[in-house]
Parts: sequence; C-alpha cells; structure tokens
Amino acid sequence: MNLVLFGPPAAGKGTQAKRLVAERGYVQLSTGDMLRAARASGSELGQRVAAIMDAGSLVSDEIVIELIEDAMAANKGAPGFIFDGFPRTIAQAEALDGLLARHGKRIDLVVRLEADPERLVERIAKRFAEEGRADDNPESFKVRLNAYLTQTAPLVAYYQEQGKVRGVDGMADIECVARAISGVLGG
Ligand code: AMP
Repeated sequence: MNLVLFGPPAAGKGTQAKRLVAERGYVQLSTGDMLRAARASGSELGQRVAAIMDAGSLVSDEIVIELIEDAMAANKGAPGFIFDGFPRTIAQAEALDGLLARHGKRIDLVVRLEADPERLVERIAKRFAEEGRADDNPESFKVRLNAYLTQTAPLVAYYQEQGKVRGVDGMADIECVARAISGVLGG
C-alpha cells in the first residue's frame, strides 16, 4: 500500500504518518524532514534550500524528486510508503507516478486531511511558540499557505480523476483523525 497524506501545512500529516509507521510498518517519506536533515548536516544542498524554506516557498521540483528517488531506493523492501509533504506540484506527482511505475508500483490512495485555513494559522502560531521553526512565523506561514493553495491544491483534481482521494476531517483531535484514516485504509 502506497499512500499520499495530503493537506495544507500544519494539517497534521507528519503526526499521522508517524502513527502509521508505528502501527503498520510503512516507511514515511517526508521531503520536509529530508530537507531539514540536509540543513542540519550543513550539506551544500542544505545551504542552498535554507532561505527558500525559511521564506515558506517551495524548493525546486528537481531537488525533491531526487530526494524521493534516493529514499525509495534505500527502502526497497518497505511494505508501503507514506508520502508526506510530497508531491506538492503536478510535476512532482507525475514524476512520482513514473518512479513507482518503474518498480511495478503505484499510489493506491490519497488521504486528504481537510482543514480550515484560519484554524491552521492558530495551530501554527502555537507550534511557532513551542518549537520555533523559522518557517512557522506568521509571514512565512502565509507564503506556505498560499503555495499550498496555488501549487498543491490542484493535485486534488489530479488524483480525483484517478479515483484515489478519500477525505478525512483534519481538524478533529489526533485520535479521531487516526481512526478515520484507519477506516479509510481498512484492515
Ligand atoms: P513541510 O515540513 O512538509 O511543511 O516542508 C517544509 C518546507 O520544505 C516547505 O515549506 C518547502 O520549503 C520545503 N518542501 C518540503 N517538501 C517539499 C516539496 N515536496 N516540494 C517543494 N518544497 C518542499
């Protein structure tokens, strides 16, 4: 089972992905985590993307597609992948379909965490206070939300055409969202 956890920034994708890893043994592939790790390591890539990330903009498709390709190759035996924060553009979604097809695989389901942007702004303000992530500051968050609405939201139609989208209320508490996702995935 390969699934995309889809939704705006701060909708809870990472939290739910980690639960699925613990419960089902799937491998979480978060491009945001990969990029933060690259920054923490001080690599050339990390330095290249730092300012873009802090501003809340998307890094280039080429960079994230390559990260995903490498991570998939490094986890060949995984029982399933959870794509978290990827794809974020149509070009990324098309590249992902191609990568999976090369291995005889495909995206089985897209779990869409539905969330109210105004409440996300509140959530993010809280996370900024607690964790201090630079791109959680109010200005950057506006840019991230806008990137989601203009570049990422069109993916819903892309996956709907393939009949793969299942909606879940992302504003419910963590346990409820987890149960709803389990219901969608079955078993
Ligand atoms: P996230 O933790 O998923 O919210 O990602 C944090 C930041 O990393 C984003 O605001 C982007 O700057 C960058 N990023 C993560 N994933 C992608 C992606 N699939 N495409 C482009 N940029 C990304």
